[in-house]
Amino acid sequence: MAQQHPLDHPAPAGTRLGELWSVLPEQASRIEGPAGGELAIGGVGVTALAEQYGTPLHIMDEDGLRRQIRRFIDGLRERWPNSEVLFASKSLPAVGMYRIAQEEGLAVDIAGGGELVLALAAGVAPERLHFHGNAKTDDELRMALDAGIGTIIVDNEDELDRLERLLERPQKLLLRVIPGVEAETHASQATGGDKSKFGLPMDQAGRAIARMQAHPLMEFEGVHLHIGSQILNTRQFAQAVENISTVGTFPVYDVGGGLGVQYTYDEPAPSVDEYLDAIVAAAREHLPADAKLMIEPGRSVVARAGVTLYRVVSVKRTGDVFVAIDGGLADQMDIALTAQRYEALLADRIDEPWTESVQLVGRQCESGDLFIDGAPLPEARVGDLVVMPATGAYAYTLSNNYNGALKPAIVFVRDGASRLVTRRETYDDLLATHAPAIESSPTASQTGA
Ligand SMILES: *Cc1c(COP(=O)(O)O)cnc(C)c1O
Repeated sequence: MAQQHPLDHPAPAGTRLGELWSVLPEQASRIEGPAGGELAIGGVGVTALAEQYGTPLHIMDEDGLRRQIRRFIDGLRERWPNSEVLFASKSLPAVGMYRIAQEEGLAVDIAGGGELVLALAAGVAPERLHFHGNAKTDDELRMALDAGIGTIIVDNEDELDRLERLLERPQKLLLRVIPGVEAETHASQATGGDKSKFGLPMDQAGRAIARMQAHPLMEFEGVHLHIGSQILNTRQFAQAVENISTVGTFPVYDVGGGLGVQYTYDEPAPSVDEYLDAIVAAAREHLPADAKLMIEPGRSVVARAGVTLYRVVSVKRTGDVFVAIDGGLADQMDIALTAQRYEALLADRIDEPWTESVQLVGRQCESGDLFIDGAPLPEARVGDLVVMPATGAYAYTLSNNYNGALKPAIVFVRDGASRLVTRRETYDDLLATHAPAIESSPTASQTGA
């Protein structure tokens, strides 16, 4: 598919906008803004978005997102017709996103009662839900069974004990196994190695499978694996498919998610086609030809479609040039958690030459709250708008209330129009869970009344 360049003229001298196109959303473009060349997403300028919704703000390019979903669904179906693509919803657990997943024909992965509630609120059909997790509680399993969950991915034998107690109807099950692939990624994102906390080693799978096959209400369908996240070497996915084939012959093989995405212009990622070629080639070689093949991408579905918009609060020239913005690791936790590198651009003045190398820092009380060590930017001023590209995955997910930060809003943009799908938290939201302390009078608690 021909990609339209975001600029209607060549990248201005002294900027890296030409390169940054690879990490900006597909529907990014340049418009004339109040301060000159300005970045627009989905045809809406960042100045207008900041004014209407405030900052920090998660902006999702809806057309680019839907196109990426179709690349996965159509691409897998062309190569392996008996297949299904599941959206790993932890990468963007927003009701507006679950609804798009449902509309585009994705099944949905959830892990826990919270994601179940969000998916159901979006109208996702319960039979399209797949319930993951290494520590599902009785309450959560009951919620999922009551909702009519499609498939439960069993992690361990304690979970089978629970299901033996709770099942009242036939239930489809998969078993998560450890495929013995040490993913080449940050340690916090590797889940397929022999010491993984997720799933059972292949040599213990047989016993769990026998238990499920013997139980009258357990419909054991096959095996599941997931080797980790932000994986850039597609051979690792192929290796996992080969390894899992040794567990046995089943109707279903779910080979997980984990395809890496391009965050910085100097570190490209495999395309969806390259990824699908790798896993389907391995499936043709190692899996039964009539098996159903499932994949569970999360990050690679949503990352590029999203950017986060911030406003510059302070520019300080001390031991270094510090450009401080109105967000931080409360809304961009991945940087501290996984050391992921990102790009940034001054989105309200994109034509200006990038003359400085700055410390782009957040506002949380941690020196590790450093977005970019040496970000090339034009000379930033208080009030400028900064865009962090490729933050559509896991940024909203991991947002938290560090320093009393309010979780940002999410807005979808398309064809020059924006719509709010998740509002910003308010101070009232922040106070709400503390109502017991606020409402109890100091005298009452002192007397124990
Ligand atoms: C997180 C997760 C995924 C998605 O991983 P991505 O790297 O976001 O594609 C898929 N399956 C399972 C079981 C997961 O835990």
